[in-house]
Amino acid sequence: MTGLMQGKRGLIMGVANDHSIAWGIAKALHAQGAEMAFTYQGEALGRRVMPLAEQVGSDMVLACDVEDSASVDQTFSTLQKRWGKLDFLVHAIGFSNKSELKGLYADTTRDNFVRTMVISCFSFTEVAKRAADMMHDGGTMLTLTYGGSTAVVPNYNVMGIAKAGLEASVRYLASDYGPQGIRVNAISAGPVRTLAGAGVSDARLMFSWQQKNAPLRRSTTIEDVGGSALYLLSDLSSGVTGEIHFVDNGYNILSMPIPEMMRR
Ligand code: NAD
Repeated sequence: MTGLMQGKRGLIMGVANDHSIAWGIAKALHAQGAEMAFTYQGEALGRRVMPLAEQVGSDMVLACDVEDSASVDQTFSTLQKRWGKLDFLVHAIGFSNKSELKGLYADTTRDNFVRTMVISCFSFTEVAKRAADMMHDGGTMLTLTYGGSTAVVPNYNVMGIAKAGLEASVRYLASDYGPQGIRVNAISAGPVRTLAGAGVSDARLMFSWQQKNAPLRRSTTIEDVGGSALYLLSDLSSGVTGEIHFVDNGYNILSMPIPEMMRR
């Protein structure tokens, strides 16, 4: 199958390097003919993102820090001038202070709570609004979440609260924008070794735990997420919106790991 995204233009937010989930998504979309613009946060990451964007034929690489609304406005004003219209949006952005991604959730500070919510949750709503204004013939939006939103994952702490809010935002935005033919979905990915993933304390342990215990007995790759993102961003999923789609090798279906002695 080729050309599923032919003639479609979209913005990819959240590539930090070639391990990023957003990069896995960009590769899958590129293989199906999508034209993409990229954002990066800060000059250091920009130097990594530019050659990657070039690999997928993109010359639109824009600085954007979602903590700063003016920066978000600038990004969309550039997109408006260059393209005028947008077909899809990928939001793969998350942040919380590393020092609070360990120990007790109860110790979360007010400052980090607010910052985490703004960057990891509200930013999706903020960019979705601007993207929707450019989706004249309908469109699709996708964000990235994690199962720590609905069940306690050690050390994930305030990120779990932000992801719960993000997932609720997906449903509300899907309802708001549905009448305009705009679909809004999320992928809930299993642990992937990325910069953000490594920020959570004991990340290696969580990674190998899921690899060992998920029904498929393997870890989630950025290519796994890319394939599912292609489905959710293309017309293949034309009747799907407000959905939280798990790409975690089935880990979310377990109520407890299957004990070694009961495994076949
Ligand atoms: P990553 O570090 O490659 O990507 C995170 C991105 O967020 C980076 O590009 C970073 O620049 C960006 N970002 C952080 N603060 C920002 C800000 N203020 N303005 C603009 N951009 C900002 O890690 P990743 O794992 O690919 O993360 C992408 C998304 O996937 C995140 O939402 C993360 O929570 C989610 N996710 C990750 C995993 C995992 O195990 N790695 C699992 C499920 C969901």
